[in-house]
Amino acid sequence: MNHMPPLPAALPGLREAERPQRPPARAVWLTGLSGAGKTTLAHALEASLQRDGLRACVLDGDRLRAGLSSDLGFTDADRAESIRRAAHVARLFVDAGMVAIVALISPFRAERAAARALFAPGDFIEVYVNVPLAVAEERDPKGLYRRARSGALPRFTGIDSPYEPPGAPVLELRTDVLPVAECVERLRARMGLVP
Ligand code: ADP
Repeated sequence: MNHMPPLPAALPGLREAERPQRPPARAVWLTGLSGAGKTTLAHALEASLQRDGLRACVLDGDRLRAGLSSDLGFTDADRAESIRRAAHVARLFVDAGMVAIVALISPFRAERAAARALFAPGDFIEVYVNVPLAVAEERDPKGLYRRARSGALPRFTGIDSPYEPPGAPVLELRTDVLPVAECVERLRARMGLVP
């Protein structure tokens, strides 16, 4: 038997502006070259949302490949499967009222479109984290470009595997021009959150 008291239909003590808003449950999908800044921005956005008491979770390639997708390699089929799984996990988070921040190169338009199709319109915020390849390669935060150029990492995106830029992203962030804090403000604005 359920002894929980019924929830009040309204919160009469609060003025409209003070009422809790629906949590901004959305998938923020960061796509771009390796080294573009997806992981950096994902964690900065997560921290910013958490400071406001919002529940957010980063799904990045390293985290997913350490567990859920540890069986997958880097063939086109395995990359597609990894993106498919990430999209479904993100959908579960959004259904649970959270912000899912996905940071994956996700180089192919068709796979990003399939991810978007899992969400209600407006709940999937595609963000193109854009830097010239030369900048990403110069940053090379994990030494992957160096390994790719030496032939140790075949089919590396941007080197010998294509990256298909989004045609109409909700937001494009040039991380070689904008500091991290400005990128986070623009992300928050696109989520309908005031700074
Ligand atoms: P990705 O996840 O896209 O592979 P990372 O976030 O791991 O990229 O690495 C991006 C690198 O670029 C980091 O060393 C980060 O400090 C640096 N960086 C410089 N400016 C920015 C910016 N505005 N936004 C994001 N990263 C930046």
